[in-house]
Amino acid sequence: MEFSPVCSEHISLEGSILKSDTTHKKRNISKDVEMDIEILYKVVPQLAKVFRITDKIGEGTFSSVYLGEAQMRDGRKEMFALKHVIPTSHPTRIAAELQCLTVAGGRENVMGVTYCFRKEDHVVIVMPYMEHQAIVDIIGSLSFEEVRLYIYNLLKALKHIHQFGIIHRDIKPNNFLYNRKHKMYALVDFGLAQGTSDTQIEMLKDLAGLRKVPRPVFGERNLNSCTPVPPSCTEAALKTELVKAKKTDDAASYKYPSANQGLLAVRTSSSSQKTQMSMQQGLTCNCYLTDQICNVCLARKQQVAPRAGTPGFRAPEVLTKCPNQGPAIDVWSAGVILLSLLSGRYPFFKASDDLIALTQIMTIRGSMETIRAAKTFGKAVVCSQELPRQDLRTLCETLRGRRSAAETTLVPDASGETPATRKNLVQDDTPTYQPNGPKLKQHKEETPCKHQDHPDSSKAPTPQSSLSESKVGDDKGWDRVPDEAFDLLDRLLDLNPSTRITAAEALQHPLFKHL
Ligand code: ADP
Ligand code: MG
Ligand code: ZN
Repeated sequence: MEFSPVCSEHISLEGSILKSDTTHKKRNISKDVEMDIEILYKVVPQLAKVFRITDKIGEGTFSSVYLGEAQMRDGRKEMFALKHVIPTSHPTRIAAELQCLTVAGGRENVMGVTYCFRKEDHVVIVMPYMEHQAIVDIIGSLSFEEVRLYIYNLLKALKHIHQFGIIHRDIKPNNFLYNRKHKMYALVDFGLAQGTSDTQIEMLKDLAGLRKVPRPVFGERNLNSCTPVPPSCTEAALKTELVKAKKTDDAASYKYPSANQGLLAVRTSSSSQKTQMSMQQGLTCNCYLTDQICNVCLARKQQVAPRAGTPGFRAPEVLTKCPNQGPAIDVWSAGVILLSLLSGRYPFFKASDDLIALTQIMTIRGSMETIRAAKTFGKAVVCSQELPRQDLRTLCETLRGRRSAAETTLVPDASGETPATRKNLVQDDTPTYQPNGPKLKQHKEETPCKHQDHPDSSKAPTPQSSLSESKVGDDKGWDRVPDEAFDLLDRLLDLNPSTRITAAEALQHPLFKHL
């Protein structure tokens, strides 16, 4: 057996291994998956000596995750998750991901690592396999108590990694494995993680060093110089990016804020920088405090700031590309997850780019409030329409169908879009984005309604059934959600990162007093 030099240590894991005797259903695998498994055995031949790889359990832009079975010395069979990292990833990137897992993992709801295999540029990270359910499949049947425990355990993981100076940057349900039956939780995927200035993860410091080289910020994970250089911000390039962004709907695809999007403008509100720019170009910006972006501003170089994650879970300071981003960005994402769980809608914000995501945040948290917060971290946000802040309890209860829409002034649909934002987002000259078209239809399919045939969700509250159920007191606690839940939600979704509650503080919140 050969081990990669980056992780020769054998890490023992307590608690986080779910033994193979727990139910793992045999799945019929497709020809494609069979072929991928063959290829994996070929590129990392050492794997064949240890594992019988039986399935592919995850596929992202930056990795494929397989299920492998290993015969242990004592005769037991154990299941592992084998993460084959995309070979174009920068070695420091991969090493940083591994170091997060080895240093902080294996406890406090953070996934650990068992081995690592490498052959040439192929790296396979071996982790204990944890059977889990996708939130989208169970959101309709979760009880309030399950939601409370889920968020508590997520915050516990965040507190733990933040103590090591790790910012995860991609907090979302897909990266927080949840085993409902055994009440087990595991934070995975440090593929976008970054370090705080005083991080204890050496490799994250090295990563910061790599980032010093100014570069456009398209695919955050592709630090590799071999990857194609992203197109410059010409009109033509912009269109290409738009098409891509729509197709993949992925964190990696990003388009520049464009003037014809029209609804929102974000820029660094430093007047000195502005003057400097104007002097360099011999032109003066004429769009300040208007809802347009002038050609001078359009021609400006994009500010280099770390941006990562999935638009719908990104904090305002990430969406506006604030260069100083801290662990608070993970806390915001936890807030979005709580909002989703309390309202029964997943995903809550579904945005194909950062400006749309920012508008959706404004529909919930208020446009004036967002503008005010952005100002504190040096960003001027302009919105063409004033959007009022929503009362969180009213919002969540309305979306759950526990309140009639008439009781609220502005009811967002499942994607967090309100009639107001929809109007705001639709531009006659942006044919690639159709908020009222297929996008929303597709989203509707992801709401709990689809999953009513799921055994666990047979009692999923529908607008009618939840009201009658509340009379017999069997609505999974949704008729008596305490104010503390909405208070915590409000604190997690603080638009201002400097006053936002920390994970450690959130664990002390009255919502968790009996835990
Ligand atoms: P990516 O960077 O491609 O998103 P992740 O580390 O998030 O890779 O893994 C992708 C998916 O694989 C996860 O969402 C999860 O479903 C599955 N997965 C990852 N690690 C494990 C594990 N240890 N046990 C079970 N499933 C896992
Ligand atoms: Mg992931
Ligand atoms: Zn301008």
